Amino acid sequence: MIPVLEPSIGKEEIRSVLKAVKSGWVSSKGEFIEKFEKKFADYHRVKEAVSTSNGTTALHLALKSLGIEKNDEVIVPVLTFAATANAVIYCNAKPVFVDIHPKYWCIDPQKIEEKITEKTRAIIPVHLYGHPCDMDWITDIAEDHGLYVVEDAAESHGAEYKGKKVGTFGDIACFSFYGNKIITTGEGGMCITNNEELAKEMRILRDHGMRPDKKYWHDKIGFNYRMTNLQAALGIVQLKKLDKFINKKRKIAKIYRKNLYEFQEKKEIELHPEMSWAKCVYWTYSILIKNKPRDELIEYLYHKSVDTRPFFYPLNIMPPYKKEEKHPNAYKISKEGLNLPSSININKETIIHICDLIREFLK
Ligand SMILES: *Cc1c(COP(=O)(O)O)cnc(C)c1O
Repeated sequence: MIPVLEPSIGKEEIRSVLKAVKSGWVSSKGEFIEKFEKKFADYHRVKEAVSTSNGTTALHLALKSLGIEKNDEVIVPVLTFAATANAVIYCNAKPVFVDIHPKYWCIDPQKIEEKITEKTRAIIPVHLYGHPCDMDWITDIAEDHGLYVVEDAAESHGAEYKGKKVGTFGDIACFSFYGNKIITTGEGGMCITNNEELAKEMRILRDHGMRPDKKYWHDKIGFNYRMTNLQAALGIVQLKKLDKFINKKRKIAKIYRKNLYEFQEKKEIELHPEMSWAKCVYWTYSILIKNKPRDELIEYLYHKSVDTRPFFYPLNIMPPYKKEEKHPNAYKISKEGLNLPSSININKETIIHICDLIREFLK
């Protein structure tokens, strides 16, 4: 089976994790954690990085540190991984869904303002499948209405908007290092920010709400959302390779594009977009199947030993988030969208083979 995404872990990562294991610092103290945070902050040219146990806890921590609570509303795109909305619900706040842009699949800024009420506190733009959101527009809206912006960059490490890295536009940005993400620590996440007060608050909440200067004294209810030294040891080496991985993802995209372009011309497929203002990192190279049922292609490829994934469902059609609303772009794209194999270590011949199978299916 050709997998959709598998991690690329080399000898250097193994050496690094081994060093952490042998040091005895196997929990959430140890040299690798602070180093990883420092290097991740430097990579984004921001002041602070706070590592977490995963991307979902990163989102929850970010919203908590901003004081999001009961009766607050937080705007999220209707097409995203459920964790984005779940983090809002963990705060007892309410996710408010906004449709996506038909061209680049991220939250449609034009549809945000109509969803803002006096209860709205924040917007979570999600840089979906490696493509950045239209951040100027979103931060303008947030400024006009006094809202926080928390970027969900779990799928877009190193992507750029107008030449600037995603994760540097909001009050806080959250990343995931799950095994299928662009870089991995097994499980793991990170919050980055230029606000030292917020970083301090996130560090306290991450560590049971304990006061850093008074052991076992709790001013508030916190969480155990810490990253381990072992995860950080893996992450440090992965981060060193991030730019190389991004170049590889962009090469993979180029090969898919070249071999599937004819179908875009014939309007049978829409290829993974890259807007003029965007540098997309193609977490998964993704396409829309326009004329035939997408699920038949999934089935067809599966029987030829090629694993793929359908796009996320619009959140508002699923039981926990159920809401009678119309999100025409998300509905359409969710049904047509397909993530193709995009691992760092996939080779050119395999990609061409997958494109040949798609060609055969479309015939
Ligand atoms: C993966 C992902 C998350 C959650 O990250 P975990 O590390 O799996 O908890 C959140 N948002 C989006 C958009 C994701 O793709």
